[in-house]
Amino acid sequence: MARRRAAVPQGPFHVSPVFVAQAQGAVVTDVDGNVLLDFTGGLGTLNVGHANPAVVEAIRSQAAAFTHTCFHIAPYEAYVALAEKLNAITPGGFAKKTLLVNSGAEAVENAVKIARYYTKRPAVIAFEHGFAGRTLLTMTLTSKVMPYKFGMGPFAPEVYRMPYPYAYRSGQPDEHAFLERAIAGMREFFKTHVAPEDVACVCLELVTGEGGFIVAPPRFVKALATFCRAHGIVLIIDEIQTGFARTGTLFASEQYGLEPDLITMAKSLGGGMPISAVTGRAEIVDRVHVGGLGGTYGGNPVACAAALANIAQIEALGLCARARIIGQRLHSRMLGWQTRWPVIGDVRGLGAMQAMELVTDPGTRKPNQELTATLVQRCGAHGVILISAGSYGNVLRFLVPLIITDGQLDEGLQVIEDQLAAVLR
Ligand SMILES: *Cc1c(COP(=O)(O)O)cnc(C)c1O
Repeated sequence: MARRRAAVPQGPFHVSPVFVAQAQGAVVTDVDGNVLLDFTGGLGTLNVGHANPAVVEAIRSQAAAFTHTCFHIAPYEAYVALAEKLNAITPGGFAKKTLLVNSGAEAVENAVKIARYYTKRPAVIAFEHGFAGRTLLTMTLTSKVMPYKFGMGPFAPEVYRMPYPYAYRSGQPDEHAFLERAIAGMREFFKTHVAPEDVACVCLELVTGEGGFIVAPPRFVKALATFCRAHGIVLIIDEIQTGFARTGTLFASEQYGLEPDLITMAKSLGGGMPISAVTGRAEIVDRVHVGGLGGTYGGNPVACAAALANIAQIEALGLCARARIIGQRLHSRMLGWQTRWPVIGDVRGLGAMQAMELVTDPGTRKPNQELTATLVQRCGAHGVILISAGSYGNVLRFLVPLIITDGQLDEGLQVIEDQLAAVLR
């Protein structure tokens, strides 16, 4: 850690002081021989688990054949095979094409480029509590100021921010009234902020990732999608954190009956390797001229081989069904905690993408960032790696690898329960 402090800037944070020696499945072993449960799954990248043997074997075999050529110099089959696979498994009964790049931010950047090119319009709509990455455009699309944007302006132009339908903080206890107001607000936005004729695309997370696992109500999403279609606005669904079985279906869009124009994917696409994708309507993605999209490392063959093995594992292990079971276990355990400790203000999620929002008082709902940070720290010290989320830093989110056993899940949850009991005693 002293060497890390001396050689690496403080900017790239770490939630746990553990230096990893080895990791397998849901278990991380540190350089001192401590064994920990990873409830963050490499920040949502490891739905198939750490060092999944099929993914490791695919990496080994591709690396032995060749590690890189650059797709723009000499193409190779793995890129094409992954594009075919993503075209086939993403929702949407229309012709699709896929662009491969390296990170989530790069996927969102490219989705916006494609949408602007196709529509010949400038404006992009992002959401409060949204996260899109750390590059200039995606940092601009991101809502949370500290730490992502603070002191780093000026930001990219023509980005407009719409309120996210956040039931718990809407101040509206009646669900129907909340939805009516959210949908009316969405339509009003195109009168008071930006004209629909100027909007290239809307970038939406169906469940906010960094924003604290707020689940967008299906009726709001349907109204927004209908509005976009009526006005020629490209609907980009960011499935970077929700994708690849996390929410109980391969993509969260399926549960909304959505066929997005463009889908961005990254985190659990590569089974731990850095790779991301934009998949969408062929007529939109294919409009961009030759050379208008790409990058030196985009769709690196080793990462493509890992992604293909990763998707095959998700299918073979039935991880969508497993995610629903894990989600039920997490959700019911947290509801039990909530009856004991009312500072657990909200319990929410979709499939295995579950979280709890901590408050100082269930009446005022004042965010309790301090308790959240204390729990992350104490659980880490007791062998469970956790990460928080939310614009107010007061959400504990679970991104457990979906191959976690029931025993490991219960053991980790017991650690969290014990720490809740110790802190809230
Ligand atoms: C993590 C994330 C990104 C950014 O991905 P990076 O690989 O960190 O650039 C974008 N959108 C969502 C929803 C994410 O969760």
